Amino acid sequence: MYGIREKCAVIGVKSNTDVFESLYYGLYSLQHRGQESAGIAVQTDQIRVHKDMGLVSDVFRNAYLSGNIGIGHVRYSTTGSSSIENAHPLLINYTKGSFAIAHNGNIVNQDELRSQLEEKGNIFLTTSDTEIIAVLIAQEHMRTNDFVEAIKSVMKQLVGSYSLTILYDKKLIAVRDPSAIRPLCFGQKDGTYVVASESCALDVLGIPFVRDLRPSEILVIGDNVESHSGPKGKVCHCMFEYVYFSRPDSVVDGKCVYMVRKELGKILAKEAPVKADMVMAVPDSGISHAIGYSEGAGIRYGEGLIKNRYIGRTFILPDQKQRDLGVRVKLNPIACKIKDKELIMVDDSLVRGTTLKRIVKILREAGTKKVHVRICCPPIRFPCLYGIDMQTSKEFIAAEKTVDEIRSTLGADTLAYLSIEGMVKAIGHDKEDLCMACLTGDYPLKEKQTKLL
Ligand code: SF4
Repeated sequence: MYGIREKCAVIGVKSNTDVFESLYYGLYSLQHRGQESAGIAVQTDQIRVHKDMGLVSDVFRNAYLSGNIGIGHVRYSTTGSSSIENAHPLLINYTKGSFAIAHNGNIVNQDELRSQLEEKGNIFLTTSDTEIIAVLIAQEHMRTNDFVEAIKSVMKQLVGSYSLTILYDKKLIAVRDPSAIRPLCFGQKDGTYVVASESCALDVLGIPFVRDLRPSEILVIGDNVESHSGPKGKVCHCMFEYVYFSRPDSVVDGKCVYMVRKELGKILAKEAPVKADMVMAVPDSGISHAIGYSEGAGIRYGEGLIKNRYIGRTFILPDQKQRDLGVRVKLNPIACKIKDKELIMVDDSLVRGTTLKRIVKILREAGTKKVHVRICCPPIRFPCLYGIDMQTSKEFIAAEKTVDEIRSTLGADTLAYLSIEGMVKAIGHDKEDLCMACLTGDYPLKEKQTKLL
């Protein structure tokens, strides 16, 4: 599936030596979660921040910040414009000192909170919801004189998703929202502590995974590691982290993403079998799912499309002819392998359907006899309010079309989606502990749920 983007990733490292390299390579491994801007804040006597628009490799080409504790962030904007002002980490200076903060998620009641703060005379420098969190923490810190109590108090005011890393007073603080919508995990080895959006960042740094942060947990890593609890909430992990967003080599809330994806494919093979010569994937996001489908169906898996890995996300083309050519440049069929064959083409999810339609056309032009499309996620019909770039129902092909109408639009011979029950079974969490609002319209955090609908 192409075109849907995660908002951000966060990381934090505390060690006995310089942490810049760890932050850099950690962010590199989290680049799939945000490609618009990147930033690192490191604390010695003071906090210094380097951030800019662009990929991690570009932003830090000539940069180095020395210090044993720091946080980092990569961003794709869904709230606040795509500009350097909105890049993270944000550095806040106030009468009690300063702190830096990085955020993955989306605050649903941000407009209300911003208005309340502006009425009290606060002036904001950015349009991002993270600045609202930061200003609230600073104000509560001044009121309570206790940084952790300040965070707890702010958590009671926030509705939405937030995994935070904060650098304050030579402490690394990690916060996960009460619903634990976005992932956040913790690892340590020999005096080095790492918190990161995904466990793949710990693997890359050679830091053993210890555990996921608990819902509403505030983990304070200073001379000791302390765990505090914020307000209670309803747990609802984002199902889309398993289906599409997280890297397959990550473990999210105790589930190996690769194994979940294989299971999604396997279950779909049982739910929607069809005769074919080969199972193939839309690379790369559909590969684990397709391998699972192949195992479940007992039909061999093979590559049918080769992906050009050297195309950046700026590859946006203005007209239909060029867009068709663009898909072709990105994905080229192995004609000798698929000619005269009946294929099952597996993808992780289907949002707008425009790319998949072009892929079906490319396969047919290459001589494929039949194309059976299998989607390892139930139909997406509703916007996401919790930090994923799916903001209006209009962009979803399944919002207004039946499955057969979608099949016809794609030009496929058959089309089947995984059921919600099948998806829940593959993920392995209780149904009640999953957010599935973009499938069902049932938003788990009830306040402001109709804001973007
Ligand atoms: S609405 Fe969908 S994408 Fe958004 S958090 Fe819920 S499951 Fe994830």
